[in-house]
Amino acid sequence: MLDRFPEYINPLSLAEKHREYKGELSVLSMQRLSELLINSEGWVHFQLLFSKQGKVATITGEIEAEVYLECQNCLGTMVHVVRKTVQLGIINSTDEIKQLSDHFEPLVQSEDKIAFREIVEDEIILSIPDVPKHTEVCLEQALGKTENELEEGIQKESPFSILKDLKKTGV
Ligand SMILES: [Zn+2]
Repeated sequence: MLDRFPEYINPLSLAEKHREYKGELSVLSMQRLSELLINSEGWVHFQLLFSKQGKVATITGEIEAEVYLECQNCLGTMVHVVRKTVQLGIINSTDEIKQLSDHFEPLVQSEDKIAFREIVEDEIILSIPDVPKHTEVCLEQALGKTENELEEGIQKESPFSILKDLKKTGV
């Protein structure tokens, strides 16, 4: 397994050599991804094996990352955890999709070499929800909190008023 990976790759040639790469890429180095995020902190971890299924080059493995999105409900920061199993079949035209088994997602390669970083970047981009929202009901919760605080405020006053009333009735 190699820690260093080439910037541009020829999937078929790597598949023939059965190369496996493991490493990290900074989120900051991925411009298209960064544009979708509230900030570009963090790293993308990957472990990818180039192999072949029949004549088709395949890339299989795992990609993991934590990226920061803007919740479209409360506009706060939310962490989006990506744990993705990669199963890509590199094809040169859509006609070749037939050669791939159902387990593989087709990746159309238009040029001889493709940017390794972009393969990883695309996988993360595909995992980002169209409308990111906290899984908990963040906005209603925030509003709910204020209501609770108000209620608490009322409740804090009420024991005294009750006491006052008790005193007034004076048993
Ligand atoms: Zn939220």
